[in-house]
Amino acid sequence: MIPTIKWPGGKSFAFTIFDDTDLSTVANTQAIYSFLYDLGLLTTKSVWPTRGRDIPRIGGATCEDYDYLAWVESLQARGFEIGYHCATYHSSRRNETARGLDRFKGLFGQYPSTMANHTGCQESIYWGSARLQGANRLIYNLLTRYRHHQRYLGHVQQSEFFWGDLCRERVRYVRNFVYADINTLRNCPIMPYHDPERPFVNYWFASSEGPNCDAFNKCVSEKNQDRLESEGGACIMYTHLACGFQEQYGLNKRFRSLMGRLSKMNGWFVPVERLLDYLLEAHNYHEITSSQRARIERRWLRDKMIVGPS
Ligand SMILES: [Zn+2]
Repeated sequence: MIPTIKWPGGKSFAFTIFDDTDLSTVANTQAIYSFLYDLGLLTTKSVWPTRGRDIPRIGGATCEDYDYLAWVESLQARGFEIGYHCATYHSSRRNETARGLDRFKGLFGQYPSTMANHTGCQESIYWGSARLQGANRLIYNLLTRYRHHQRYLGHVQQSEFFWGDLCRERVRYVRNFVYADINTLRNCPIMPYHDPERPFVNYWFASSEGPNCDAFNKCVSEKNQDRLESEGGACIMYTHLACGFQEQYGLNKRFRSLMGRLSKMNGWFVPVERLLDYLLEAHNYHEITSSQRARIERRWLRDKMIVGPS
């Protein structure tokens, strides 16, 4: 059942974006943020606080790049949230993660409220097959041919990549399942939730799938925007704003038109942290039950088989 949320200020739905920082630079992302700001859409931009030393699988600027940092700080000053996407663009051992979190706090005034694991980082927390339980874990392992089984170690206390205790002390919300539907609450009505089987994460949140410009535009089509509003739902789009939104001669036209339309609707447009804080208060503290967990896992597996979301 989708919960009925009474949105603040008489708004009829909520919409925001968690921007995964993969490939982001000032050059390929700045114009998108100016555009969102002008429309009054305040969202969350994730960062890597420290420069890497290994070759990245997927690169992008870090907060040790001076111009990039100055720009990210200007976004924070304008009301965007800065989120965390691991210490840097490759795996980090415990001391490196601790340094990344400290640097994040030094730069942005507090530890991150929201985070998402970065592809391939071994310190990712409860990731790969550890996202699921029982039969759903087995199905996932078969679908992925055990490629992600016991590969991610952020929650494994004996591992040099362990940082679960730091996550619990310093990070409020961690992203887990991403669904094809625009209404994130429809698939994960209990978010943000605590999972007693995953005690190092305070609260989990879900998102809607749109990893690049084309997929994003499909998910936020006019029809879907209208349904999000009529359902009184909440959408957290998970995307990479460095992937195709800015084209050679300006922003993608379809994206411009869809965001322009959305911004004129009666939505609540706040960063992910603010939206989750509000939902947490509306729902009170919520610990997920085994049957609720099985349900959201199954929905994710179903979507994964059809559209292969994150
Ligand atoms: Zn990433």
